[in-house]
Amino acid sequence: MKTIKIEKESWVQGLEKLQDRYRLFGPMADKDSYEFKELNSGDTPVLEHGKQGNTRLSVKSVIYPQSQTMFTYTLDESKDDHHIMKEVELNGKPRAVFGVRPCDAASFRLVQRNFDTPEYKDPFWINPYEETTFVGIACDEPSKTCFCTSVGCGPYNEEGLDLLLVNESKDGNDFFARILTKKGDDLATAAGWLTNANADVDAAADVDFESRKRDAEKKITAKVSIDQLKEKKTTDLFSADFWDQVGFSCLNCGTCTYSCPTCWCFDIQDEVKGCQGKRMRNWDSCMYTLFTLEGSGHNPRSNKVQRVRQRFMHKLKYYVDKYDAGVQCVGCGRCIQLCPVNIDIREVCETMNTYTPAGEEA
Ligand code: SF4
Ligand code: SF4
Repeated sequence: MKTIKIEKESWVQGLEKLQDRYRLFGPMADKDSYEFKELNSGDTPVLEHGKQGNTRLSVKSVIYPQSQTMFTYTLDESKDDHHIMKEVELNGKPRAVFGVRPCDAASFRLVQRNFDTPEYKDPFWINPYEETTFVGIACDEPSKTCFCTSVGCGPYNEEGLDLLLVNESKDGNDFFARILTKKGDDLATAAGWLTNANADVDAAADVDFESRKRDAEKKITAKVSIDQLKEKKTTDLFSADFWDQVGFSCLNCGTCTYSCPTCWCFDIQDEVKGCQGKRMRNWDSCMYTLFTLEGSGHNPRSNKVQRVRQRFMHKLKYYVDKYDAGVQCVGCGRCIQLCPVNIDIREVCETMNTYTPAGEEA
């Protein structure tokens, strides 16, 4: 691992050089928020978002788009290849994503357990993930809704990142950069940031990293306990009486799941126009009625309280039991910020973590 300094001019020139070798992505202003977009020549990603703290949607869409064509086919029987599914070739050019918050970077490791398993390999997720270089930006001003330090992450967390930037100047675009992997080293080399002028920043930079990291962690005041979730009985939590209260105000709008970096559910649909068809994968949400509607007309989660329970049980109990690797949440706080009726996963987690069924109280 080495630390380099990148000054503003070199930063902008480096981004331009990288355009030849990589598809670049990063946060850009979008009406009243910031969203990850593909960068064109001359675009500079916005790495500080003022009071908003983070992009509205997470970086997951760069790897796993909201809507993606997987196969195409023709129904025209005069063609030799009619009714044969043809896999859509992915653009294999390496990608680099800038401005990834440490919580979002960590989320990919959680999601990987679903898309890249010994039994199932999803090339539409694995290939883009493996060909992407993740350039993070440390969070010196976490927002009030952040609780990453309670769920095994942190504002300077390096897991899942290839390079971590720390803002050196208040006006932005002068950085210290910690190079964490070979991919990070390759990108810094291609950008021209590993010149003598930038390289070998002295150990003081590392010391500064550590003290800034401690300062940033202290700013995260929200604390959530997850230590007892594993030992709770699934059936006790499932049949607990607090779910009516939790789900009462939910609108089933799906905002919490779409904005969440660790939600991975999708639906596959065919769209046909004339004789040309395409098979698409679209994000779906456990908060929608149709999500579990069966062909028979039966719906095992026909009311909203069941759907709200499913979302929290999946993230905070089923995932915990299945993988024994913590909760399916990185504490980014988006679902808290964006829920129109103020349902707060921190409160639900606390309720689940401390729950004791009636009659079993100490
Ligand atoms: S954002 Fe809030 S209201 Fe919308 S589905 Fe999620 S919990 Fe319900
Ligand atoms: S559940 Fe909420 S706080 Fe946790 S990762 Fe998803 S959006 Fe962020």
